[in-house]
Amino acid sequence: MRISYFFITLFLLLFTTITFAKNVAITMDNPNCDQTPLLAPEIRDKKILSILKKNNLKIVLFAQGAQVDNPQGMALLKRWNNAGHLIGNHTYSHLSINNISDKQYEQDTLKNEALLKSYSNFKKIFRFPYLKEGDTLAKRDEFRKFLHDHGYQNGSVTIDASDWYISDRLEKRLSQNPNADMTPYRDYYLQHIWNRAQYYDGLAQEILGRSPDHTLLVHHNLLNAIFLGDVIQMFKDKGWKVINADQAFQDPVFKMMPNTLPAGESLIWALAKQTGRYDDKLRYPGEDESYEKEAMDRLGL
Ligand SMILES: [Zn+2]
Repeated sequence: MRISYFFITLFLLLFTTITFAKNVAITMDNPNCDQTPLLAPEIRDKKILSILKKNNLKIVLFAQGAQVDNPQGMALLKRWNNAGHLIGNHTYSHLSINNISDKQYEQDTLKNEALLKSYSNFKKIFRFPYLKEGDTLAKRDEFRKFLHDHGYQNGSVTIDASDWYISDRLEKRLSQNPNADMTPYRDYYLQHIWNRAQYYDGLAQEILGRSPDHTLLVHHNLLNAIFLGDVIQMFKDKGWKVINADQAFQDPVFKMMPNTLPAGESLIWALAKQTGRYDDKLRYPGEDESYEKEAMDRLGL
């Protein structure tokens, strides 16, 4: 009797894990060779690559041309290409489509493509800078048509976050005190990512009736050179599966084109906005430093 209960429990546990395991892929924006405290640019880059290798993950690196259009930047892209990661288009100049004409934005996208296309793992997948996708109907739809005509997929984010802001603050602290304790930054970062993952996944379940394969947005920065491995481990500890980005982007959710203006933000945010049922619940923008500043100030970070 006791044994059969054991097997039933075991079966239920396995079944629950298999059926309800959530998937998340890492996507990383803005590879760069900027100077930061603690780690030289090349070392910082290699640390990120080694974390991904250790976890057997392939991601999409969305490159902004202006940051890599130099010998060190080209060497960086070559490392990522040779490690089997995909390289996506993040425009050359990283302007918001909301601030320039669609023609200028298209030129900037093609300029970046010309720079990236020689890498064998360059893929026609596009990440909008600031996740802004157009503030007028004409601009939004013109650029959607442009992407379609040029064979691009939108590299949408489902889990948006503010890792870049936490990294800025960590870098500022380390430049004042190279021996500063980084643990509170790690704790803040992990709880921030977990909080945002739960929020966007909960919203997705309400809108889609399921958890899609998620794409998490993080940046190529010092914070991730140090703590990306902890982020990956945290998802695993919480029972999520961390998957390759090209697998995640095959989820049908990424074909959806929400009818919202201004367009953009997390894809899940936009799909919720489109329903008209969340107007009082959705903040704009979805993520920003202003939402983290007070808490980080309070913690003395
Ligand atoms: Zn960016």
